[in-house]
Amino acid sequence: IQKLLKELSQDITSLDIDSFLKKITEKVREFFEVDVSDVRMLENWQPMGVSGIEAERIRGTGTFRGRSKWILKNRRPLAIADTAKETNIPTGDSTRRIGIRGYLGVPFFSRGGKMIGVLRALTYQPREFTQDEIDLIQQLANGAAIAIENARLYHESQRQEEIQKLLKELSQDITSLDIDSFLKKLTEKVREFFKVDICDVRMMDNWRSVGVSGVEPKRLRGTGAMRGRSKWILENRRPLAIPDTAKETDIPTGETTSRLGIRGYLGVPFFSRGGKVIGVLRALTYQPREFTQDEIDLIQQLANGAAIAIENARLFEGSNRLVGELKGLTELLGAKNKELDTFVYTVSHDLKAPLVTLQGMADLLLNEYEGKLDEQGRHYLDRLKANAQQMEQLVLDLLALSRVGREGHRPEEVSLDQVVDDLLLEWGETIRARGIHVVHDHLPTLWGVRTHIEQVMTNLLGNAVKYLGDSAAPVIEIGAKDGVDQRVECTVKDNGIGIDPAYHEKIFEIFQRLKETEAEGTGVGLAIVKKIIEGAGGRIWIESAKGQGSTFHFTWLKAQQEVKL
Ligand code: ADP
Repeated sequence: IQKLLKELSQDITSLDIDSFLKKITEKVREFFEVDVSDVRMLENWQPMGVSGIEAERIRGTGTFRGRSKWILKNRRPLAIADTAKETNIPTGDSTRRIGIRGYLGVPFFSRGGKMIGVLRALTYQPREFTQDEIDLIQQLANGAAIAIENARLYHESQRQEEIQKLLKELSQDITSLDIDSFLKKLTEKVREFFKVDICDVRMMDNWRSVGVSGVEPKRLRGTGAMRGRSKWILENRRPLAIPDTAKETDIPTGETTSRLGIRGYLGVPFFSRGGKVIGVLRALTYQPREFTQDEIDLIQQLANGAAIAIENARLFEGSNRLVGELKGLTELLGAKNKELDTFVYTVSHDLKAPLVTLQGMADLLLNEYEGKLDEQGRHYLDRLKANAQQMEQLVLDLLALSRVGREGHRPEEVSLDQVVDDLLLEWGETIRARGIHVVHDHLPTLWGVRTHIEQVMTNLLGNAVKYLGDSAAPVIEIGAKDGVDQRVECTVKDNGIGIDPAYHEKIFEIFQRLKETEAEGTGVGLAIVKKIIEGAGGRIWIESAKGQGSTFHFTWLKAQQEVKL
């Protein structure tokens, strides 16, 4: 027996458990001269390693009772010399059927002391087992149990390793495969690893099978409504294993599985990242099939891994699509803006020619017919000329506005100090005449298109001068301070008429002028300023109230040399 145990413990890694047990039961038959020997495993109560008879013939009802129950309760061998004479412990259905008289059953313990099965030695004739025989068989069973456990652990770790490998492989596949092919790869692996006949995933959103393997997908097509078992999984959020659906009465069998004649059922939930059940991975067998907790755990692990991979793929796809759409929209917007600029440019350009003629004709009239015109006539002509001039300004402003986005000027270092000083020099006369006190500290060097920066300052300073009202001590202050993101925040402040906060947004729109002002203008200036600043990635806003003066703020990129590291 010692020799045998040693031999067996070497076999265990190369044999499957059934063949291994059969080797033991054959030795038991040979050593102890019994007719039939097998092992009943506790987990499904089916015979394994049957020797001396066809396994089919001693397949029981799948429930254990009577003698096996006695052994489970007493945790020691039970020997019955003649079952026909034994009245206390009922005889099992299968052994009675084949006419067994002599019975010996010894418990099989796991490492943790849990009983995992019963090794049985059976004879057609009554048979007395000596205590020595019983001890020896018990010793064999103990040795075998340890070997089996080792083998299981070994197989388990190997399977775990394979599953990890598979999960890694799947997470790489997900980006190249569509979801159906991806899931099919998963279900094929489940079929291979766990020896089941059919495997699929039922998705919660439409309750259809995807990634079907082991059967033609259309044969699994259900009614599209979920109920029974899938509903149970959805509600309980954990795996559901039914060893034999023919015997299960609590949870109704689905229409498709009963049509296909499925007996063994395992369904594990597929969770989304948010913990929602998004589907059920099903493993189905034509014969009754008991799934061990380890197997269920592994399949759940696979489902979890696959669910994460699918969600990642969906997120990836979704964000890609969104970025694509956004890009398309931005391009469209850019194209539309360009179109509009071109339109404004063409129209204002075309208006220039007749305008010049109009002005020329008015001049001719004034010069050559001066003597023939009376006071009223001259006044009309003056009005005509003034309006033509206003219109010319409008056309020039519109041209400037449309040019902002159209011309590809190169950015350079532009000294704001220089720009401001040039303007003050240009307007020196006006400034002195009106008695304006202009204040500014050293202003930074900016990075941008020179003409753009000049245009911004011309408009803002021009407005500050224009909208001073009748302020007795007019002051204009120009300033700059460090802002965020390598930008400076520039300010142009006056103590003029101010702007009611209700119009702070409005004045940046084209042709928007405030009624109360008498100063000349076209209402295009601030629209140009805003377009330039926002085009350069900056921002412009006002701080002002009626009669309180105005401060215009805007941000602009600093030149490299100004960037403090
Ligand atoms: P315009 O000066 O040609 O009218 P803008 O677009 O430059 O056009 O300005 C729009 C309007 O904003 C002006 O008509 C004026 O009512 C108001 N505004 C602009 N700057 C100032 C300012 N510094 N103080 C008060 N009001 C201003």
